[in-house]
Formats: sequence, C-alpha cells, structure tokens
Amino acid sequence: MTSIAVVEGDGIGHEVIPAARNVLEALHPEYDFFPVEVGFGMWERTGCPCADKEIDELKTADAILFGAITTIPMKDYQSVVLRIRKALDLYANLRPIKADGFDIMIVRENTEGLYSGIEESGPDRATTLRVVTRKGTERIVRSAIRLARKRSGRLTIGHKANVLKSDVLFRDICIAEATAAGVSFNDKYIDALALDVLQHPAAYDVVVTTNIFGDILSDVASYLVGGLGLTPSANIGDRYALFEPVHGSAPDIAGRNIANPIATIRSAAMLLDYLGDKDGAGRVETAIGTVLSQGICTRDLGGSAGTREFGEAVISILRKNR
Ligand code: NAD
Repeated sequence: MTSIAVVEGDGIGHEVIPAARNVLEALHPEYDFFPVEVGFGMWERTGCPCADKEIDELKTADAILFGAITTIPMKDYQSVVLRIRKALDLYANLRPIKADGFDIMIVRENTEGLYSGIEESGPDRATTLRVVTRKGTERIVRSAIRLARKRSGRLTIGHKANVLKSDVLFRDICIAEATAAGVSFNDKYIDALALDVLQHPAAYDVVVTTNIFGDILSDVASYLVGGLGLTPSANIGDRYALFEPVHGSAPDIAGRNIANPIATIRSAAMLLDYLGDKDGAGRVETAIGTVLSQGICTRDLGGSAGTREFGEAVISILRKNR
C-alpha cells in the first residue's frame, strides 16, 4: 500500500495541509496517510522540534506531504526543514513557476551551499561556511540537465562566480556537465538573473543554482504567478521525496482560514506525479484552474474564499470530472 507521511508543521501548515491531504484522499482513498509531528510547536511542548524517531517515521513513507515550519532566529534552534532535507538527502529542490506564456523550473541545490549548517556564533562575530562540493554540484546539475532534456532543452546556470570562489567551482562543474551532455545553456550572475527572470520570464526554462540563491530566486519569481500562495515544490533525493509549498508558516495569517492552499495542493499534485499518477496530477492542476476561473479564490488573490472552502471547491470539481 502507498503510504504518505503528512506533516502539518506550524502556522498555516495546520490549514493548507488538510486541504491538500483531502484532495489526495479524494483521488486515492486507498493511500495510507499517517501524521508525523515536527516543528516549533513540538519544540515548545517537548524541547525538541524533530528527533531521530520522526526522521525514521518519515523514512518509512513512499512520499511526504509537508506544510511549513516556524524557524525562530535563535542561536541554538536549528531549522527542522534543513535537518530533514539533509537526513533524507533530498538534494534537488524543484520549484516550478508557471503561467500563460512561461514555464520555468528552478532547480535549487538543497543540501549544502550557505545552508551547510556549519556555523560558529560568538558575541562579536558569527560565521556560516558556504560549502560547494563536486559531488553536490554534479548531482544537482545532472538533475537539471535531465529535466531540461524532457522540456525545451534550455538550461541557465545562476551563480555569483565573480565574487565567490565557491561559485567558480559550481559554475565550472555545471558548464562542463552541460557541455558534455550537449544541452543548450547559458550562465548568469544571480543578481542580474533575478531581475531578468521578472522582466523576461519566457526566456527561461530550467534554472539551476545553489541553495540560498534558489531559495530567494523562487520567492522573487513567485511574483510572476501571483505570490507565495501559489508556488509548490518538490524535494527529491535518490530514496526519499518530500513535497511542500515554497512559502513558510505565515504566522501573520495563521488560524484565520484565509491562507491560500493552492501552493500546497499543487505540491500534492507534484507528489502524485512522482508516484506515477500523472493523470491525477494533471486533473488536480485543471481543477485548480477551473475553481479560479469561477472567481473562487482566497484573499491574497483578491477573493473571499476561505482555505477550507477553496479546497472543497477543488474536490467538488475533481468529483464532477471523474
Ligand atoms: P512566509 O512564506 O511564511 O510568509 C511571507 C508572506 O507571505 C506573509 O505575509 C504571509 O502571510 C504570506 N503568505 C505565505 N504563504 C501564504 C499563503 N499560503 N496564502 C496567503 N499568503 C501567504 O515567510 P516568513 O513570514 O518570512 O516566515 C514565517 C516563518 O516561516 C518563519 O519562521 C520562517 O522561518 C518559516 N519558513 C519556513 C519555511 C519552510 O518550512 N519550508 C519556508 C520559509 C519560511
């Protein structure tokens, strides 16, 4: 039986995840959904946001549906999301940015870079080590090349090699791999790339970049599709896969049934695609489009539908289009 670990996490995770889980359940009542609790809420109650036990539970699932975790900027509180990405070696973070006229796939290296977790913090000086390795770069650019081949065949390498020695290595390995694979590619400094993606989104297909650059670039690019409420993501490794919205726990709107669940429902569609149900994934995307075309949307898109109501509208379309 296909088993899906469901992590609500914190904040709006408690609202958007049930909406996405219900969509999955409507299509696949045979899936075995089991909850795993991690996050800031758990840290407040137990002093530990994510123990080995939870990591082991996540590893038993065929796929993980993940909400968002509040990460407080405190010296000794380590990001749960980073811990899970590393523990499950989810090295490729795929963040699609798609609308009429453009279809971009940001491929973000997810296990090293500036989120290496190698840090020192003193009263007057704090450092974070930015790590770029040959192994980490080869595997992420190879994932990006595979995707580029399935799509239009264009690859853009985003880096800051003019300033960062670590990105000289990243850029050179990416260029060598792309050249050997025979895909058409260009490379751009990440700051110029961030503006150009907004100005000329149709010029991009697959964009590969390092961890923090990919994180920021995808938030920026979400502007093109209507904001963070809409952008899904997949975290894929060789053995495990986790699907989560690009956005965080949004404490400013949590608990009010106003969060947009589309990013999470789209992440659930990516999960279906990963599990081989391409038809189901397509049906979910179509149902979201149909609900939006009926003028039903949440507050961030100018509407008044609640998180729950939007999710129910998607399920009702899925049932009609059976
Ligand atoms: P955020 O993404 O939570 O929110 C940024 C802005 O976007 C907020 O105004 C929020 O209301 C809005 N927003 C986000 N998702 C939305 C949705 N579905 N519908 C409507 N509006 C939405 O980022 P933040 O405020 O910088 O961070 C809040 C917390 O989330 C922090 O603790 C941060 O560490 C954490 N975070 C977690 C993840 C993750 O779990 N992967 C990612 C990013 C941030």
